[in-house]
This record gives sequence, structure tokens and C-alpha cells, in this order.
Amino acid sequence: MKDTKVIKIDPIKPEEDRVREAAKYIKDGKLVIFPTETIYGIGANALDENACKEIFRIKGRPSENPLIVHVSSLAMAQEIAEIPGEYMNVIKRIWPSPITFIVKAKDKIPKRVVAGLETVAIRMPAHPVALELIKKSGVPIAAPSANPSGKPSATNATLAIKYFKGKVDCIIDSGSSFFGLESTILTLDKLKILRPGPFTREEIEIAFGQKPFVDDVARGKASAKKSISPGTKFKHYAPDTPLFLYNGDAKKLAGIIDDLGAATSLVFIGSKESCKGLAKATGCSTIELGPKANLYEIARNLFNGISLLDSMKVDFGIIESFDERGIGFAIMNRIRKASSGKSFGNLGQLSKYLEKEGY
Ligand code: AMP
Ligand code: MG
Repeated sequence: MKDTKVIKIDPIKPEEDRVREAAKYIKDGKLVIFPTETIYGIGANALDENACKEIFRIKGRPSENPLIVHVSSLAMAQEIAEIPGEYMNVIKRIWPSPITFIVKAKDKIPKRVVAGLETVAIRMPAHPVALELIKKSGVPIAAPSANPSGKPSATNATLAIKYFKGKVDCIIDSGSSFFGLESTILTLDKLKILRPGPFTREEIEIAFGQKPFVDDVARGKASAKKSISPGTKFKHYAPDTPLFLYNGDAKKLAGIIDDLGAATSLVFIGSKESCKGLAKATGCSTIELGPKANLYEIARNLFNGISLLDSMKVDFGIIESFDERGIGFAIMNRIRKASSGKSFGNLGQLSKYLEKEGY
């Protein structure tokens, strides 16, 4: 067990001395959990192979799943990666922001960080604490999401502390992340979304002047065949409790639950409106993510909501579908993965899944 130092830092006006204290850990080759605008990350000096090895170890992360490297300037990015000249101006304009680019890696970056690939994932985070931490460390910081492999990402310090206290040297507590979903990942050799995130498809199209490619992996409907982006593996954010995605008419769900006689065995995760309606109609327990009209709030609460499911000791969960525009596209990608592609629209389909689970 490590003696983990928890440092509280203001998310908007980071206290300099506290950031410096955290940065010292990075410089010394140690691990620091820190907030970004997307989620919390487990960071280490990206140029220090041994420090990065420790990230894989404590996460239980397969060695073929590469890390995202976080930078605080374009110059820092260019030290470790080849930024295509044709996109330089766009990137200058849109960074810092919740978008990660896959570009050709330079030799300086250890092979372990990029899992032996020729490319590297780089991002300049917009969170003031993350940016200051990188600046004060003076090195790029490799940081995957702060969760044991396969568990929902930590979107606040409390969950990060629960997961990793005693396993890392330092945890920065700056409250909740702003978006609550991991960054968008875009390849630049051909503009293709590997993982949708808070920087939306629509925004990419405006910034780059062309529509990005999107396939069923980005939609969360299929898993990547090769380990080019292992984060696109199908079952990635799944709770231990079976979770099913309801893709039918919201008004009909109460009837399905009644017909099944299952109101006490399940938890419904969804918008405030749907939760209220369903609880009233069936008496089932619910986890509210936020009002239907505020997809940013739904996104922020999504991982926490899903991770609550396991603490509620029920047989299964049902989660609602959301509009796929804007950040809704990333929300649905995470929901499809959390439910391992098990979606239903009627009683028959749900019963089949439940039978398989031995319900
Ligand atoms: P995480 O930070 O845990 O959310 O995971 C980082 C994501 O970035 C994973 O989905 C990785 O597969 C992806 N990634 C990192 N480096 C690369 C790369 N060079 N090419 C493709 N995907 C990458
Ligand atoms: Mg992750």
C-alpha cells in the first residue's frame, strides 16, 4: 500500500503551490491522478517508460492498449509526434479541447506507451488544473482514464479515490470533471472518429470543413477487429449487474415491466422525466441522470449512474436511449458498450436476455 497524498486544487483557479507539489511527483517518475474536462486520468511522465509501465499494472490494462499523451503546447506535441502540416492551423484553433488526434509517433516516445504502434494519441486538455500540471511538470503526461480496466471511468475525485487510494502516489481532488465522458478520438491520416466524445461530429465537420468517417465501432454497435483502438473493444464500461438498453417507445416500458412482474428486481437508469414516470407506474427503483433536454448533464452523470447500479443489489438494470445528435452520439456509444450491445424493444426480447442470465 502506498501513502497516497490527496491534494485539493481549485478547478478554475488552480493554486500554484499545490500544482507544483503534484508536478513534483510526475517529475520523480510517480503516478498522479488528475482532473481533465473529460474525466479523471492516471498520469505519469510519458517519456519515462517505467513510470508508464506502472500505469498499466495498477489499471490491469492490457499492454496492447496504448495511452493518450497529454501536452500543454503545440511545441510539446511536436517533440513527440508528427502533426500533419495541412491540419496545423485547425489544431491550433481548436486545442485545448476534448479531442485526441492519432498521428505518427516520434522515437522519443517509449514503445510501451504506444503499445508498439507507429502512431501516438495526443491531446491538449482544456481543464485549467490538467494544463497547469503538464506545464509545471515540463513533460508530456501519459494518462488513461482513472478506472480499473473494464470499469466505468472516474468522473470525480471521490470515485478515483475509491478505486486507487493506496495504489498511486498522489490524487488531485478538483471535484467533478466538466463533461464526464472521455475525449473524442480522431485519426488524421483519414478523418475518422475512433471514439466519439464531447467534441462532437458536428463540431469536427465545422472545424475541418469535412464530415468525419463514422462506423459501427464509433456508434458502439460493434467491436474493432484489430487492436488499432482497443478502447473500442465491445464490453468496456460494463457494470457487473446485467444491463439492457431499451430502444422502444418510453411510454410502453411500464407495461413491459408489469407483464414481467419484475419491478422489484430491476433498476431503471434514465432521464429525470422517464424515471419519475416509471417509478410512479411500476414502483421500480431508478437512477436519474438529468433532464431529457440537457444531454450535457446526462453525460456528466452517466458513468456514476452506471456504477451505482452494482451497489443496488438488483438482478438487472434497464437504461434508456437518447437522441444521437451532438454529445448524444457519445452518450449512446458508452451506453451500448455498458449494455454489451443487449438492446430490446419488447417483452419477448427482454425475456430472452433474462433467460440467458438465468433469471
Ligand atoms: P483511455 O484513456 O483509457 O480512455 O483510453 C485511451 C484510448 O485511446 C483507447 O481507446 C486507446 O485504444 C486509444 N488510443 C491510444 N493510442 C492510440 C493509437 N496510437 N491509435 C489508436 N488508438 C489509440
Ligand atoms: Mg478508459
